[in-house]
Amino acid sequence: MSFDLPDITIDVTERVAPFFEALGRGVVLVQRCKACGDATTYETTRCDTCQSDDLVGEEASGTAKLVTWTVIDRPTHPAFNGIEPYVTGYVELAEGPWLPARILIDRADLRPDLAVKLAPATASNGTAYPAFAQA
Ligand SMILES: [Zn+2]
Repeated sequence: MSFDLPDITIDVTERVAPFFEALGRGVVLVQRCKACGDATTYETTRCDTCQSDDLVGEEASGTAKLVTWTVIDRPTHPAFNGIEPYVTGYVELAEGPWLPARILIDRADLRPDLAVKLAPATASNGTAYPAFAQA
């Protein structure tokens, strides 16, 4: 399986810019709810548990486990032609939130709860995006 990267660009809004900037430093950010203490993903504006909007960003460990995935054999966008098959899925961060990500693991090795670690990939415009490799 190839781990080549597609020739894509990622446009980042001001609200999520800190998340992508942190990925460029090899760090994944989550938000911690000041009302209940649970962690949630960075892009949300409310706590998944209690709906509070009193959230503060924090650095996560970068460790996670594989939850679900799909192997893409036929790309749906020309930018991804030539790198198939590739894997995309969700990981559960050690802090709790699920994060969509590119999965940099051979399909034969994919299994539920597989330990993974952050291995950010970089789009052609220099923006890092979430990717995880086997821990
Ligand atoms: Zn909460």
